[in-house]
Amino acid sequence: MQKSRLFLIAFLGTCALLPKVAAQTQPKPAADLIITNAKIWTVDQSTPTAEAVAVLGDRIVAVGSNAGVASWRGPNSRVIDAAGKLLLPGFNDAHVHFLSGGSNLDNIYLYDAASPEEFARRVGERAKITSEGEWIEGGNWDDMKWIPAHLPTKELIDSVTPNTPVFVNRYDGHMALANSVALRLAGLTSKTADPPGGTIVRDAHGNPTGVLKDAAMGLVYKVMPEQTHDQRLRAAKRALAHAAALGVTSVQVMNPSYQEIAIYSELLVGDVLTTRIYAAPLITQVDDQVKIGIRRAFGGPYLRIGALKAYSDGSIGSSTAYFFDPYTDQPNTRGLLSDEMQPLSLMHDRMMRADAAGLQICTHAIGDEGISLILDIYSDIVKSHGESDRRFRIEHAQHMAAKDFDRFAQLRVIASVQPYHAIDDGRFVETRIGHDRATRTYAFRTFLDHGVHLAFGTDWEVAPMNPLLTIYAAVTRATLDGKYPDGWFPEQKLTVEEAVRAYTMGSAYAEFQEKEKGSISPGKLADMVLLSDDIFSIAPSEIRAAKVLKTFEGGRLIWDSDSRGKYELSDR
Ligand SMILES: [Zn+2]
Repeated sequence: MQKSRLFLIAFLGTCALLPKVAAQTQPKPAADLIITNAKIWTVDQSTPTAEAVAVLGDRIVAVGSNAGVASWRGPNSRVIDAAGKLLLPGFNDAHVHFLSGGSNLDNIYLYDAASPEEFARRVGERAKITSEGEWIEGGNWDDMKWIPAHLPTKELIDSVTPNTPVFVNRYDGHMALANSVALRLAGLTSKTADPPGGTIVRDAHGNPTGVLKDAAMGLVYKVMPEQTHDQRLRAAKRALAHAAALGVTSVQVMNPSYQEIAIYSELLVGDVLTTRIYAAPLITQVDDQVKIGIRRAFGGPYLRIGALKAYSDGSIGSSTAYFFDPYTDQPNTRGLLSDEMQPLSLMHDRMMRADAAGLQICTHAIGDEGISLILDIYSDIVKSHGESDRRFRIEHAQHMAAKDFDRFAQLRVIASVQPYHAIDDGRFVETRIGHDRATRTYAFRTFLDHGVHLAFGTDWEVAPMNPLLTIYAAVTRATLDGKYPDGWFPEQKLTVEEAVRAYTMGSAYAEFQEKEKGSISPGKLADMVLLSDDIFSIAPSEIRAAKVLKTFEGGRLIWDSDSRGKYELSDR
């Protein structure tokens, strides 16, 4: 791999040095890889479809008909017959929590625990195999799956975990349940005050029930043991393998710690980083990147930094997304601004410094006022620093105020959205915020109509990383509970073409890489995915069942369903 990349550089270098006539007499190098007989959807408007593609080193050198690409074939070219299957650019997941996702593949799994009893049973089973001093963490539980839905309490699991500290999070990451051992270790009692941006859920007597929301989770996190280097490395490798098997060739990693970025750097040096990474550490650490002097999208094809992740508010599932008006089902609350927003001037100041330094800002904002307040700051930045190609992002952009679509477009903010959340939250959003606000929820079509750039992702591990499930969600909007088979707010459905574009070019644009990847075009990185089915022609309801046959990253085959046997696509 490294060798052929060097060869390409050498070849291009030679061309540049030789006089034009001599260069033309040089024999054309043979491709390292040729994929023929494919149904290629290029996501390149100049040539939307093709049959074959040739790759030299890690770049695409030709795209066209089988006959047209054949001239790139040499004695050592690897030729893959795609047998008429659909070839797309590799998927670029614009919002993941990669290392925690990888760790969670080994953690307890509670997402599909459909009752409190099942929840407690799994925690008890896990406690039996957890060594002394180790915590039970992860989990991704979903209280909305219980009938009736209600938050768990420490009492549910205390008896099965008398000596094991437990801190298991809700799948949206905005609440977690601690057992009594964990609360004791954190020194958390009825006397502990709610921290800014956080809530300690209490019973009628003021005692903590075990559930902590948003910033309150930090009270427990700070007493949990840090992951070791080996644990991080293992988690990263799990995540890379998972991404490869799902056809995900690029990820944009939100909130990585510096130790996490160091792991990617180590994997890169070892030439085993098989997913391209753009990392956005928290804006609370803005001064570090300002000090180094790097700007947005700094780095190489495999690892970039230069973005910052900020938090405006919480989540809809935890009733902490911040709205102009109270929650329909909880009239006493409008949600919770994050601790980074208290006071607002704190966020304003950090974002101003980030932008002045040329760093890209990606802000988690879900409730309509949570989004609106960030647009206010973005607008101030443009006023103070002038127009530039800065590509502000709002992550999730779930519940829009009607007045803000135009502003979103004018400020050229990218909507970095996760369609799976729509078919998941669609189960309960209307009860929580009422019909009117729900009409502007996950409003992908309205965004496109306003000329807003969409980038697709999953928020893995909050949602499954599977791109076909995500595309299915955007195209069908069929909620997971089966209540809206024809789509929940169907006027917001996208076409398969639009969904694929958002997942490839859209996400590449969101990380300033639209010239390097996002389409199958000559000169671009050879990141491609071969699918079992033609998702453009099968019934939309079948898209989620399509499988990834092969994944190519920079021309190397990093996933092959033939040679590795059947890969069980779990819900993860
Ligand atoms: Zn996230």
